[in-house]
Amino acid sequence: MSRVYNFSAGPAVLPEEVLKEAAEEMLDYRGTGMSVMEMSHRSKAFDAIIKDAEADLRDLLAVPDNYKVLFLQGGASQQFAMVPMNLMKNRVADYIITGQWAKKAHKEASLFGKANAVASSADKTFSYIPDCSDLPISEDADYVYICENNTIYGTKFWTLPNTKGKDLVADQSSCFLSEPVDVTKYGLIFAGAQKNVGPAGTVIVIIREDLIREDVLEQTPTMLRYKTHADADSLYNTPPTYGIYMCGKVFKWLKARGGLTAMKEYNEKKAKILYDFLDQSRLFKGTVEKKDRSLMNVPFVTGSEELDALFVKESKAAGFENLKGHRTVGGMRASIYNAMHIEGVEKLVEFMDAFEKKNG
Ligand SMILES: *Cc1c(COP(=O)(O)O)cnc(C)c1O
Repeated sequence: MSRVYNFSAGPAVLPEEVLKEAAEEMLDYRGTGMSVMEMSHRSKAFDAIIKDAEADLRDLLAVPDNYKVLFLQGGASQQFAMVPMNLMKNRVADYIITGQWAKKAHKEASLFGKANAVASSADKTFSYIPDCSDLPISEDADYVYICENNTIYGTKFWTLPNTKGKDLVADQSSCFLSEPVDVTKYGLIFAGAQKNVGPAGTVIVIIREDLIREDVLEQTPTMLRYKTHADADSLYNTPPTYGIYMCGKVFKWLKARGGLTAMKEYNEKKAKILYDFLDQSRLFKGTVEKKDRSLMNVPFVTGSEELDALFVKESKAAGFENLKGHRTVGGMRASIYNAMHIEGVEKLVEFMDAFEKKNG
């Protein structure tokens, strides 16, 4: 068996310890004689799995008691619709457009009401986070929406926008559990699991209880109401059981590593190795404003499409997978989520250095 250094933006690398444990439990989960994939979501064994997962997540993020944690399906993209359907009481919401995912969320919200783009960094190919200290927030906005870490462009909100008292909704898909966050600053956080916490198919929603409403937009399907899932503790219908089980293992792995403060330190150390290299390189350069750099997704270019293509090809042959940039932006991107070892980043930088000496 040999594992590559996987820099995929998602689905992405998971901790090897977690994968091994899951492999050991594959055929017989702790004496049940069956795989977690095969067991009833109403069974005692699964009840313990989902309850533990929720408890560990609450512990990691210090989720206050007045917030619900939901394990749902449909990916982060389904939240683009669920958020407005459930929260757009006045049918007005303000969106900050910092990339493709925010753009998609904004477009989806427009199906349901007046979705204002109150700030955007489209003018410079989303290479920065706009100043959000004094935005024209709508008087009657039901919420202000951000994509906190922009997976495709490699930017991150290091300061949350001034929402002028409105509830903040954040897509944290690609930075979820990469650092501590103050949950009380948000009305709702959601994250697709496949970037930083587990297999695709599970999406985690953390929502303040007063936002779980009965009076959602008319004709909102039962499955798309937060209340349906909150009332049933995420067991209204069959939840993504195996995904929840894997997320639960990742939560335990994070706790064993010292929690999110330790994770943040580790992620900073990892990202610094790569950014420091980019900043001194004569061939490679980072594509975003330094102050807005993501710790999770690091895009870079050589300035020549041919050299970019050659780099992607040669790096793949050397065991570094998925370094090709997003199809809409080109160049390269290294996603260095929680489960990427520092060694992987060090090896990548060595490889880039050698590539530069050969081609620079
Ligand atoms: C990947 C991603 C999405 C889309 O996730 P799906 O689960 O494929 O719907 C949305 N937002 C962000 C920030 C992402 O990184």
